[in-house]
Amino acid sequence: LNAYFSLIQRESGFISGLVCVLHDITEQQKIDHDRKQFVSNVSHELRTPLTSLRSYIEALNDGAWKDPEVAPSFLKVTQDETDRMIRMINDLLSLSRMDSGTAKLELELVNLNELFTYILDRFDMMIKNETGEGHEKRPKNYSIKREFTQRDLWVEIDPDKFIQVIDNIMNNAIKYSPDGGVITCRLVETHDHVLLSISDQGLGIPKKDLGRIFDRFFRVDKARSRAQGGTGLGLAISREVIEMHNGRIWVESLEGKGSTFYITLPYEEYGEEDLWNEDQG
Ligand code: ADP
Repeated sequence: LNAYFSLIQRESGFISGLVCVLHDITEQQKIDHDRKQFVSNVSHELRTPLTSLRSYIEALNDGAWKDPEVAPSFLKVTQDETDRMIRMINDLLSLSRMDSGTAKLELELVNLNELFTYILDRFDMMIKNETGEGHEKRPKNYSIKREFTQRDLWVEIDPDKFIQVIDNIMNNAIKYSPDGGVITCRLVETHDHVLLSISDQGLGIPKKDLGRIFDRFFRVDKARSRAQGGTGLGLAISREVIEMHNGRIWVESLEGKGSTFYITLPYEEYGEEDLWNEDQG
């Protein structure tokens, strides 16, 4: 912060005022610093999987391809890492569209109880279909508890983007929880907001990291996130999407106990009549 002071002195010699010009250079410096940091992060994030890909390909090239014991698993790693890089680039592209303001919301008046139910039903289906997409391992076991208000909550949102946010928080709740955990999903309304929350019984997030969890590429445990196929961008995207909806997203967590993610969205009570009139209009 640069500050320029000059005293206003009267002829009599008395000081009658003080002019102070505050010039905030720190804000611009911070933006520049963040931008450089981001480019450096992206480069590192992509170099890591590329370096590992190269070593697997080299090993295959050096003869491992002939070894039926190792070749399939080496190829699996190259495929998983390539998939993760594609996910990361797609995430970066959607963040960049939101940064530049070219991402537009396709708003629809949606019954949030129904939409949330639809999303959670899909997760319930995944538990039933024991062989999850492309995974040979048995997927993690978990159960979903729903605590929804009886009242239908109609909100104006972009359903696709909203589904992406809930999917991401649900996937994290599963990823960062031990087998057999319960995930509790709540939906309630206050007088002018809807409040949606997702609680898990997982690892929790250390207090010192709570403020950074929505930052791009921030992970509590990088190796663990990578091993789970994470990109470190999911929560950053979620925050952008919720803020585009004039909502808020935050987390409360106790290490070793679990985390709760909260989302609020502006909500206007629609009576049956309002909906009817809107249809007529
Ligand atoms: P990632 O692809 O790494 O999961 P996210 O942006 O979705 O990226 O999450 C960032 C980090 O926040 C994760 O790496 C993890 O450390 C932490 N995190 C997110 N959700 C949870 C959760 N439910 N429990 C514990 N830690 C979590």
